[in-house]
Amino acid sequence: MPAGYKPGRTKFVFVFGTVMSGLGKGIFSSSLAKCMQDKGLTVAPIKLEGYLNIDSGTLNPYRHGEVFVLDDGMECDMDLGTYERMLDQDLSRLNFSTSGQIFTRVLEKERRGSYLGRDVQMIPHVTGEVKTRLRELAVASHADIVFVEIGGTVGDVENAYYIEATREMAFEEGPDSCCFVALTYILEPATLGEQKSKAAQLGIRRLLGEGIQPQIIACRAHRPVTRKVREKLAMYSNVPMDRVFSMHDCESVYLIPEMLRGAGLDLAVLDILKLNDRVDREAETKARQVWNGYITRLKEATRPVTIGITGKYTSVRDSYASIIQALEHAGTANGVRVQIDWIDTSEMTEKTVAESLRHVHGIIVPGGFGVRGTEGKITCIRHARENRIPYLGICYGFQMAVIEFARNVCGLDGASSTEIEPDCAQPVIDILPEQKQIEGLGGNMRLGGRDVQIRPGTLAAKLFNNAPEVRLRFRHRYEVDPRYIATLEAHGLVFSGKAPDYPIMQILELPQDVHPYFVGTQAHPELTSRPLRPHPMFVGLIRAAAERAAHARAAQRPGLPTASQPLQSR
Ligand code: GLN
Repeated sequence: MPAGYKPGRTKFVFVFGTVMSGLGKGIFSSSLAKCMQDKGLTVAPIKLEGYLNIDSGTLNPYRHGEVFVLDDGMECDMDLGTYERMLDQDLSRLNFSTSGQIFTRVLEKERRGSYLGRDVQMIPHVTGEVKTRLRELAVASHADIVFVEIGGTVGDVENAYYIEATREMAFEEGPDSCCFVALTYILEPATLGEQKSKAAQLGIRRLLGEGIQPQIIACRAHRPVTRKVREKLAMYSNVPMDRVFSMHDCESVYLIPEMLRGAGLDLAVLDILKLNDRVDREAETKARQVWNGYITRLKEATRPVTIGITGKYTSVRDSYASIIQALEHAGTANGVRVQIDWIDTSEMTEKTVAESLRHVHGIIVPGGFGVRGTEGKITCIRHARENRIPYLGICYGFQMAVIEFARNVCGLDGASSTEIEPDCAQPVIDILPEQKQIEGLGGNMRLGGRDVQIRPGTLAAKLFNNAPEVRLRFRHRYEVDPRYIATLEAHGLVFSGKAPDYPIMQILELPQDVHPYFVGTQAHPELTSRPLRPHPMFVGLIRAAAERAAHARAAQRPGLPTASQPLQSR
């Protein structure tokens, strides 16, 4: 037991997936955690990943979804983003574990001789390490409930020891301390037009075979799960009918907490964990009102605004999950519904750009790595700048806005990033090793939350309500070379945010008399946007885009002037 651990103080909810992956375990688990948080209980989520990587930093977002970065610099699974947004809570490396981390700890102990001559085994040593991780989180978070999401699907070899660890945990912690939830999937083959429960039954059988009796079953399905199916599942898995819930598809993930409450799932968890006396009903009423306010605004926001996003991974939405969410938050704040137009820039040229961007009211060039599509993105940025289309450049999109400005406004031919062209004539974006030293980072990526100093009187200052400093999250290797700052600024680019003690440029903009909204940031503002606290940089983009959309609508009616003067390039 870790120091300070008080058995019985913290309860545990374990969420397993059966039948298949991709059921939205993170969305389910975070929604349930939110229901509990609303009751005034302290919650702490943790995701246990089966893979051997130490973190998600090296994973391909095309296969695994975006890499989500926490304030402490941990690179983790995108589900952590779901938890942060749903709970409006900053998480840390304590909330994310992989098999790689668990085994590293075990092997380090083995080398230190901590196992006192014993052979080191999956049980009890590896499972013991899992339990230690969970209890350490309980101590550090003082949580009433720790929500444990087991990655993958019951039956995967790589997750088997996690499942065994949770079984042991429930045995050690004793009655009323742990709640097992099986998330399953109800098939509805189009050819039958009927819901079938067999796959779900077999998945839950598998869990029973591992020694775990679920107390709650949540059924993912396209349509509400029928009584007949729920009855069958109840009978087959020893779970009372009133604890087999339907969790069918709905319009927005933010509707799920209310859906769970409507089905009584929150009360079932309270009963199972005997937590009724820790509930603050007044706090719950208030929290629900605030949340439902957001839902109402979300549903009422119907006026469409189209945002074009250029992206290498255009076919996989998961690689831009946080940006999509941040746009929804900002759209709701502005009373509009954001539609996303994915723009492939690999074939983009000066000739095709206008046509490709004709329908969009705003443009985002998001983060990325490598060379592919960069020239096309720079072409898009030029088009946005010259035609006063609202623009938000995120990380790589910030760097490319600098390159575009250097080339086309400052006249620096051959301006580029050494990431794109190592021997370019004007390396306006470069790796700056001495800055990395100043920053004192061991690795070569600048990761996690950093304070950013905002220049007074700028658009950034307006967006951030005149806060002198704001905290943003970073994940990058390259920066604006400080030797070019004076030239760029002399030609009209404004660096409105920088690192407090070093010349690291972190926000750029064009003056508002030149362009309605041209903003870039070396950070990733999408990572810290929350439904109830939409990120100002996204809110600003959508506000400007909504105005452009309104003008465009007005222009379709004859007789109204709308034309705006383009900013001249050299
Ligand atoms: N490739 C760029 C860098 O490493 C941008 C990174 C990003 O967009 N996350 O600095």
